[in-house]
Amino acid sequence: MTRISSYRIYQCSSCGQKHIAPASGSINFVVSGPNAKLFPNKDDLKVCQRCSSQKPLKNFIPLGIIDVPPIDTTPKWYIGIRKRLSKNYKGPKPHPCRLYPDLASTPFNPNEYYPDWIRKNMVETDYPDWYVDLSRLK
Ligand SMILES: [Zn+2]
Repeated sequence: MTRISSYRIYQCSSCGQKHIAPASGSINFVVSGPNAKLFPNKDDLKVCQRCSSQKPLKNFIPLGIIDVPPIDTTPKWYIGIRKRLSKNYKGPKPHPCRLYPDLASTPFNPNEYYPDWIRKNMVETDYPDWYVDLSRLK
């Protein structure tokens, strides 16, 4: 199993799109794909998922690290009630994957980002905002 506990945020120096890359955790190298590299080389070529410009990792602006929030098991119906009762309640913290796309070595392809078997089980509201946004550009 691949388990990632935090992500580095990288910003594209051309268009400002933010991306995430795994920063710490434990990775099973036998099962992980090429995008799961925990210690990418600074000279590895990465592609901005918005403007498709390709450049070495060191040319992306590092913005810091975000931790993966603990798993929230609050049921959706209860989150709705809490939001209605309190203006300050913001709901569970989103997973970094819902905030920014992966910093990949290939351009963004909405049809390949999620494997088919996952897409089959997703409804429209399951897709992160950035995914919907970037899919419109294609
Ligand atoms: Zn860009």
